[in-house]
Amino acid sequence: PTTTEMLNLTDVHSYYGHIHALKGISMTVNEGEIVALIGGNGAGKTTTLRTISGMMKPKHGTLTYMGQNAAGIPAHIIMGRGMSHVPEGRRIFKDLTVRENLEVGGYTVTDKAVIEQRIQEGFGFFPRLKERENQLGGTMSGGEQQMLAIARALMVNPKLLLLDEPSMGLSPLFVEAIFDIIVKLNKERGMTILLVEQNANMALEVAHRAYVMQTGEIKLSGKASDIAQDESVRKAYLGDE
Ligand code: ATP
Repeated sequence: PTTTEMLNLTDVHSYYGHIHALKGISMTVNEGEIVALIGGNGAGKTTTLRTISGMMKPKHGTLTYMGQNAAGIPAHIIMGRGMSHVPEGRRIFKDLTVRENLEVGGYTVTDKAVIEQRIQEGFGFFPRLKERENQLGGTMSGGEQQMLAIARALMVNPKLLLLDEPSMGLSPLFVEAIFDIIVKLNKERGMTILLVEQNANMALEVAHRAYVMQTGEIKLSGKASDIAQDESVRKAYLGDE
């Protein structure tokens, strides 16, 4: 099978004011892959996703998405090209119902029938959202809000889905459910997924390839199964002594 590169970062540097958060990141995501980005607190994982989705402009380096420059292109334009970003901390609209949150997620979709079809698809992935269709987002549990945030991101039927810590703060049952959906989206829809996770064990289990970040740099990359066996990774992120 031929490999098509969907995302490419070459020597990307990003800053918050004077803070040099990404110090020359190079990585690729190919069509159809699940790629995991793991690493400790403050390593720069969230910043990498923000840079990719156009929320931050890299100061140096090249960033392409679907073969086109994406560096510093506004987030809504990148989204229009088929990239969806579920940020850390599930920013759902607390005062809107579950259904309304999904409708807002599909605001760039003009065909009402398509919007309805995607809402129903979202309910298919997350039956609990259907049960709670008219409940206010803010009154949903943490796990339910995470499901809603993912379902909302799926309203644009993205080619590339960026997920920032989808398992954060969730009970084991919900973690299981979220990872199942990630695998399903990839296998059944062919969706390409870039996954940032503190839960490195789970991330490496579902991912094809992985990158390990430390203080703004990529320290290690390779097949997820190889990274999971790496001794330094096991000690630092997988809880081995
Ligand atoms: P975590 O797993 O703790 O969320 P992370 O790997 O996602 O960490 P980032 O959030 O990307 O890391 O942070 C990378 C660096 O950039 C850190 O040193 C952090 O303090 C800094 N940083 C992040 N956001 C900001 C901001 N808004 N202003 C200033 N510095 C920031």
